[in-house]
Amino acid sequence: MLKNRRSRLKRFFEEYSLKAVLFTDLRNIRYLSGFSGTEGALLVSQDQAWFLCDSRYTAQAAEEVQGAEIRECAPLRIDTVAALVHEYGLDRLGFEAAHTTVSAFRRMSEKLSGVELVELGPGLDEIRICKDRAEIEQLTSVATLSSMALTAVLADIKPGVREVDIALTLEFEMRRRGADGKAFDFIVASGERGAMPHGRASDKIIQSGELVTIDFGALKDGYHSDETVTIACGNPGIREREIHSIVRTAHDLAIRAVRPGISCKDLDEVARSYIHDKGYGDYFGHGLGHGIGLEIHEMPTLSPRSSAVLEEGMVITVEPGIYIPGFGGVRIEDTVVVTGDGCNVLTSADKQLLVL
Ligand code: ZN
Ligand code: ZN
Repeated sequence: MLKNRRSRLKRFFEEYSLKAVLFTDLRNIRYLSGFSGTEGALLVSQDQAWFLCDSRYTAQAAEEVQGAEIRECAPLRIDTVAALVHEYGLDRLGFEAAHTTVSAFRRMSEKLSGVELVELGPGLDEIRICKDRAEIEQLTSVATLSSMALTAVLADIKPGVREVDIALTLEFEMRRRGADGKAFDFIVASGERGAMPHGRASDKIIQSGELVTIDFGALKDGYHSDETVTIACGNPGIREREIHSIVRTAHDLAIRAVRPGISCKDLDEVARSYIHDKGYGDYFGHGLGHGIGLEIHEMPTLSPRSSAVLEEGMVITVEPGIYIPGFGGVRIEDTVVVTGDGCNVLTSADKQLLVL
C-alpha cells in the first residue's frame, strides 16, 4: 500500500530531476510511512527511504513505520539528513516549501552545502488527493461515527440550551463512539449568529423558532469528517423555511452532479447558479467545498476560481449556504467520495429541515 503511495512521487522525481525528497510535514510523513507521532522526518529516494526521529519516538517508529530504515538522530536532525545525503550521493534534494519555515530553510542551506535544494510547492500535497481503499475505509468509519453522534444529541437541542452545551455533548458522544477527538472547533450558530459561516459555539441561549447551524466532524486515526446540518428549534418562519429549502436543493443538485471529469469550478457553479436564480446569490460568499483526508481542508478546492477536475477516489465536501446579516443563515454539508460514475455520500445525518 505504501509502495503505491510512494509511486505517486515519481512525477516529482522526473519533473525536477531529484535524487531524493525530504518530508517534514507530519500528514505527508504519515501518508508515506505510517508514522503517527508528532515529530520526525522522512527522506525518500527513488528506491530507498529513511525515517528520522529522536529517541522519544524510536519504539513507536519501529512499530508503525513501513518500508523505511529508522535512524535515531541526535542531537540535530539536519546533521543526520546531511550524513545520509552525503553517504548516498543525494545531491539534488526536493523539500516541502509549503511546510518549511524560513529558519528551517536557512539551517538546511547551511548544513547541506554542496546539495542543490529544490523547492516543491503546495502541489506536492497532491500526492494525497485521490484516496486509496484503506483511506476510504477510514474516512467512511469516521464519518459514520460522527453522524451517529449527532443523531444521539438531537434530543438535547431545545430552546433554553446554550450553543456551547450542544458542542460539548456532541464531542462527548463522538469520543464514546471511538473518535480520537474533534476534527475542528464545532460551529453551533443559532438565530442571527447563523449569518456567520464560521460562528463557533458561544454562550448564546437558543430561542424558540430559531434555526441552528451545526458544523461538526470527528478525528480518528488521523482522518477527519466534516458535516453540517441546519435544524429548526421550534416552529420556523416562512423565510427560514424558504432559505433552508433553497440550500437543500442546491446541495442535492451539486451532489447529483459529482462524477469523475467534472471540473470543481463547474460543480461549484451548479449550486451557485441555483442559489443565484432564487435571488440569494449575494448571500453565498464561500466556495462549495474542499477535499478532506489527513487534513480537514485539503486539495481539491471547489470554488469559482478552482482549476481542479474531479477524479475517482477524491473525497470532497459539498456545502452550499445562505447567510443573511441581521437575520441568520443555513448551511448543509456532506462529505462524499467520487466513484467511477458518481459519488457515495459518507456522512449520514438527516438533511431535511428537522423541527425539534
Ligand atoms: Zn464543515
Ligand atoms: Zn467543510
